[in-house]
Amino acid sequence: MYAPAGVKTSKDFPVPDTMKAWVLGDPGQLTLKDKPVPVPKKAEVLVRIDAVAICATDLDNIYHGPPALIEGGLPFNKNWTPGHEYMGTVVALGPGVDEYKIGQRISVEIHAGCGQCKRCREGMYTSCHNYGLNYGDVDKGHRANGFTTDGGFCEYQVNNINTLVAISDEMSDEEGTLVVTAGTAMYGLTEVGGLVAGESVVVTGPGPIGLMAVAVAKALGAQPVILTGTRDNRLQLGLELGADHVVNIRKDANVVAAVRKANGGKGVDYVIECSAAPNAVNEALKMVNRGGKVCLAAFPHDPALVDIAHIVRNNIYLYGIRGEGKSATHRAEAFMRQKRFDATKIHTHTFPLADLPTALRYAKDRVDDAIKVVVKAKMDAAHKQAAE
Ligand SMILES: [Zn+2]
Ligand SMILES: [Zn+2]
Repeated sequence: MYAPAGVKTSKDFPVPDTMKAWVLGDPGQLTLKDKPVPVPKKAEVLVRIDAVAICATDLDNIYHGPPALIEGGLPFNKNWTPGHEYMGTVVALGPGVDEYKIGQRISVEIHAGCGQCKRCREGMYTSCHNYGLNYGDVDKGHRANGFTTDGGFCEYQVNNINTLVAISDEMSDEEGTLVVTAGTAMYGLTEVGGLVAGESVVVTGPGPIGLMAVAVAKALGAQPVILTGTRDNRLQLGLELGADHVVNIRKDANVVAAVRKANGGKGVDYVIECSAAPNAVNEALKMVNRGGKVCLAAFPHDPALVDIAHIVRNNIYLYGIRGEGKSATHRAEAFMRQKRFDATKIHTHTFPLADLPTALRYAKDRVDDAIKVVVKAKMDAAHKQAAE
């Protein structure tokens, strides 16, 4: 039985020595294998993963490699387990941990910085200068689970306590996986100023982060919130999550004019760019008024030409954000706990962990209008219980 030295466990939450874990071979090739259950070190806990959501970035990691960075290179054939948007139950405590209890339900954020570089010391742990350094003689202790270290498409994972967010018991497992998505939106809005009550916000791209950006902006009091995109069903969800106006850019070719019209003829204060469309940055720059702020939360695969003179002449601020920094997941969870918006509207499908390839196909090809697809290791047991 699992009982590593210095690690606290409980009879109520027995932990096996080995677990099922999906491992990436060549691009797009995943195999379900047995792996040892990892052991938490100082300031870490062992999390039993109860649910994990699939993100577009997982598909990049699995099919292309970057932004995953394993032992300084591509993630293929390195016995690496992807997956990063998970929640679960604390089942073992590493040395020195009393901040969380065994049996506590938590959601996780991805990045645990090294804690010793300039950016980590500033609280910008998602921009850690020792990103990806966690191996051999360059081991700085950095972890970005599912990017630089093993992630969540398995049964157990270790997490630094700084990456944990305690969640409400009323929150379902599926909703718990969305804390990090809402946290990314919260981080973007934090970076452009944080307090957006009464200010105008455009969100471009109704993917999961864009839809959560609509919900968080509205919860922060933004007015109006305008969402642009190409799919009516996604735009409808945006309205349900708090958008005051939506613009379907397939029907309204001049999206900049449509946004200005929806904002009383003026440019807006903020744009949160979540589409990664080739001309999205130039359009965002034209949507904001002078002195406005544009936050880029999506990464396109190709470089883009940008009208820099327009940025300078109009004193526009341009931000790039990585991940869900500055503890934004805690603020996002607070909104969700208070039921300020219903994040579960973007959850569409759940599959057993053993069916991960099917779940990935649903997410990748948007089968059956899939948005957030979740996999659960204990799904069969839970269903059996419900049936009894
Ligand atoms: Zn993600
Ligand atoms: Zn660091």
